[in-house]
Amino acid sequence: MNPHTDSLARFTEELGGIRVLSAPEQLRRKSRDFFWYSPILNEQLEGRTADLVVVPQTEDEVVTIARAAARHGLPVTVRGGGTGNYGQCVPLAGGVVLDMTAMNRILSIRDGVAEVQAGVLLHALQQEAEKVGQQLRMFPSTLRAATVGGFIAGGSAGVGSVRNGVLKDPGNVLSVQVVTLEETPRVLELQGEDVQKVHHAYGTNGIITRVTLALQAAVHWYHSIATFGSYADATRFCHGICGTDIDLFLLTAVESGFTPYYKHLAEYFPPGSHAVFAMVGEDSRERYRAQARAFGGQETLCLPEAELHARRLPPAYECAYNHTTLQALKADKSWTYLQFEHPHPFDLDLCTRFKQRFGDEVLCHDEFLRATPTEYGAYGLPLVRFTTAARQYEIMDFLEASGCLIFDPHVYTIEDGGMKTIDQNQLAFKRLADPAGLMNPGKMKAWEAQRAPA
Ligand SMILES: Cc1cc2nc3c(=O)[nH]c(=O)nc-3n(C[C@H](O)[C@H](O)[C@H](O)COP(=O)(O)OP(=O)(O)OC[C@H]3O[C@@H](n4cnc5c(N)ncnc54)[C@H](O)[C@@H]3O)c2cc1C
Repeated sequence: MNPHTDSLARFTEELGGIRVLSAPEQLRRKSRDFFWYSPILNEQLEGRTADLVVVPQTEDEVVTIARAAARHGLPVTVRGGGTGNYGQCVPLAGGVVLDMTAMNRILSIRDGVAEVQAGVLLHALQQEAEKVGQQLRMFPSTLRAATVGGFIAGGSAGVGSVRNGVLKDPGNVLSVQVVTLEETPRVLELQGEDVQKVHHAYGTNGIITRVTLALQAAVHWYHSIATFGSYADATRFCHGICGTDIDLFLLTAVESGFTPYYKHLAEYFPPGSHAVFAMVGEDSRERYRAQARAFGGQETLCLPEAELHARRLPPAYECAYNHTTLQALKADKSWTYLQFEHPHPFDLDLCTRFKQRFGDEVLCHDEFLRATPTEYGAYGLPLVRFTTAARQYEIMDFLEASGCLIFDPHVYTIEDGGMKTIDQNQLAFKRLADPAGLMNPGKMKAWEAQRAPA
């Protein structure tokens, strides 16, 4: 017996003309994300499905949905493009999935600032921004499929982070508008530091309806591949050029074990070589190429995105972040992955020790980024051959003992994933924006803990 049957009927009556989806295949598709990257999450989350999907087109419709869900006590899980990796938009308690993708209006683009509805695809915003000489300051490698709201509520960093830091750094996300889940929903505006109350909160504490993002002046980026004789040389090069005057938007190192998954790039990333994928500013190309040579490498490809497209080659950003993982998973489902932040200062020998310890059970992949206004660092996203959950945690233990900060990709709560500690500001904001705890239940551990009987 579905515990929500009666409330669903009453909820639906209050929706007026708001679009709903209820066919089993639609419910299944809109209840999933990329949690299957993790065999552990796959086992836990497969089959969790919403009872109904609602697709609002206006802010008034979002308010109507929030009011009706609060009145009838229905769980609400907000969804953007559904590209999260950790089951962030999987409805653990059934109820309603609130699909934001029809809230896709770009409201304004001014010099350095864009205001958009939260369901706008990042790619659509990028295209519009470029028409007026502007660009996103960063985006996930899922640029084409992810929404602005989903990136803010579920993401953290990405392509552009080597130039502009991570999403939470001041000046990247300027403000958000949030609808509360109450019988009388409120529309709240969070500005500056207050944006952190909902950033990476997995949609547990309010429905983001509008976002104001900072933009940067457009740069004509060239997508480069450089190859090296060893992975140590590749990472030494990346570490060496961070913070120089070479204008970079992406800097990704992958070891030679990835070549079977990049067969379409074999001419530029041949077997036996280790590659650095990068986006390099037009004016920095010569210096970049010379530095690659100075570190023992050679550039094998350097083209703008339009030219890559014409040659049916992928842009560098689709060879980076979790697209790298995807390349391997498409060919071989026995891989999974880990995510961690390298120690500060960067330990040049860590990858060598990691390979010595785990051999072909792991493949190294690192993303270089601006960690603080003055310091550069790297995120590791190694592939790991999946055997058991216990083995995943043994490998994480090794990395943690080596000074890395683990972002466990095999868990679905905010705190276990990367936060590690309870974010009191997010918890306090949940009390205010979702007092009945209906939003994405089960994802914020701190909330569940305070509700558990003593
Ligand atoms: C191949 C691949 C590559 C990736 N690369 C990156 C990367 O480079 N950087 C990175 O940070 N992440 C990356 N990710 C993870 C994911 O793509 C990003 O976090 C992405 O921005 C999520 O956007 P989305 O619209 O798909 O959000 P969804 O997956 O739909 O949602 C993500 C979370 O946000 C919540 N949410 C969505 N919209 C709203 C809203 N309007 N209001 C409140 N809550 C909301 C959802 O409930 C969910 O908890 C990658 C994932 C894959 C599969």
